[in-house]
Amino acid sequence: MSNREAQPYLMLEPRYKYTRAFCTEEEIQLAESIRQFVNKELMPYRHEMEGGWHHDEQLALQTLHRLYVKLVRLGVTRANLPEKYGGLGLSPVMSQMISEELSRADAGLSAMASKIPWVVSFMMAAKRDDLLEEFAPFITGGDAWTVCVAFTEPGGGANLEDPALEFRTVRTIARLEGDSYVINGHKLWPGSSGSPSHFRNSYLKGHLGYWTIATTDPAAGADGLGIFYVPADAPGLSFSKPYEKMGFAFADENTDIWFEDVRIPKRYRLDTKRGEGANIMHGYVVGFGRLGSAASLTGLSQAVLEIVLEWSKQREIAGTPLRERSLFAAMLGEMYRAIDLSRQYHLSVAWQTMYPEIYGEPWSKEMMAKFAAARSFAADTAEMVTNRGMELMGSLGYAYESHIEKYMRDFKIAKMWLGGAQRDRLDIAQGLYGPFKWAGFEEWASAQHLPKPS
Ligand SMILES: Cc1cc2nc3c(=O)[nH]c(=O)nc-3n(C[C@H](O)[C@H](O)[C@H](O)COP(=O)(O)OP(=O)(O)OC[C@H]3O[C@@H](n4cnc5c(N)ncnc54)[C@H](O)[C@@H]3O)c2cc1C
Repeated sequence: MSNREAQPYLMLEPRYKYTRAFCTEEEIQLAESIRQFVNKELMPYRHEMEGGWHHDEQLALQTLHRLYVKLVRLGVTRANLPEKYGGLGLSPVMSQMISEELSRADAGLSAMASKIPWVVSFMMAAKRDDLLEEFAPFITGGDAWTVCVAFTEPGGGANLEDPALEFRTVRTIARLEGDSYVINGHKLWPGSSGSPSHFRNSYLKGHLGYWTIATTDPAAGADGLGIFYVPADAPGLSFSKPYEKMGFAFADENTDIWFEDVRIPKRYRLDTKRGEGANIMHGYVVGFGRLGSAASLTGLSQAVLEIVLEWSKQREIAGTPLRERSLFAAMLGEMYRAIDLSRQYHLSVAWQTMYPEIYGEPWSKEMMAKFAAARSFAADTAEMVTNRGMELMGSLGYAYESHIEKYMRDFKIAKMWLGGAQRDRLDIAQGLYGPFKWAGFEEWASAQHLPKPS
């Protein structure tokens, strides 16, 4: 069983891995053309996107922003915007395939490119045609803008992602004053964030602002939760310097944001009905955020498998390619198996979101469980694949030039953000046999003088 010729890995090509069970022929063709784009335009710059081994900031930002412009021109940032606003009107399944293909090259750049479609999904969920109309020219005009969603707080990010806490721990407060909301609070980790001038350069046109999760009253629980659009140059906003991180060095620049009497027009509150803000937070911010992360983790895992397949074809043990020795063949087979199961599952869940009348709204505990299952399985797959890939390659896998150590650094945060691995497990259990609350929850809430939400 020896085949030393260069060969395409058919089972890793869009035509074979994206099955007709979940997508159309047209969507597969689009995925094929994105894969070709990624191979030509992104793969050669994987190291430059983090400024090389020494993290040269200028090289990293120039590369990222230059490539982001290419993604904007390709249509990635207007992928899910309805056609009537100049978007491509692509399906949730197609969005997953786009994230997967882009993340083969760089999960950070993919995350950056998914931010505008993410906030478009909030506006669509809230049926805010007025806001879609207002933002569409920025999204379709050909210029490159970035945007940010801010929810994590100093009191603990995972609290916001925990349905049992009913948003009673949120401490960013939006107060209604006449025709305005006045926002005060402090967010951690939102990305991309920072001073507006940082996002104006020869590639980027600017920052499109902060979709901020805040409450009108913590005691009102889910009913008090709102999503507020804060323009990037709103008076009262201030930022820390970007954090230094293990991965995503410059792709998703994260800072503290302080809101000090930030005044926005009342219409910039996205949700208009009671409970709608909480639903969008659960289903779209967290839920679809996790689902997109599952796609990204799967693409990243595939990239590692591709590297190891090529390398293990060349490395011989006693005259036989390593990958043709049964121990190593079995390890590679298991890597593929986990990757394809991650893929078929995240695509299946994305497909189910198109039929809420059958499977439930994205904020239902059952769909939340599936989003969490998709992300956590893809994250465990990425952990296994990056670890195993590195071990299979030996010292070369540990070296910067193999790219594997970067994929290993990057996968970790896609596992931990949006509530993390433990929250995923708990949300699966909540979907299966919940709802149940933390023991001691009511005692805690009453010690905080928080009345039960009506
Ligand atoms: C690169 C990067 C990008 C990010 N992007 C954004 C962004 O765009 N916007 C944004 O708002 N935030 C963002 N975050 C923040 C991220 O989503 C949070 O860090 C994450 O949700 C966890 O919150 P935490 O770090 O405060 O951990 P904590 O809440 O302190 O949790 C610590 C640990 O305890 C567990 N835990 C705590 N409470 C619970 C609970 N109630 N149920 C189950 N488990 C629990 C967690 O799983 C975790 O393991 C980003 C972070 C990084 C590193």
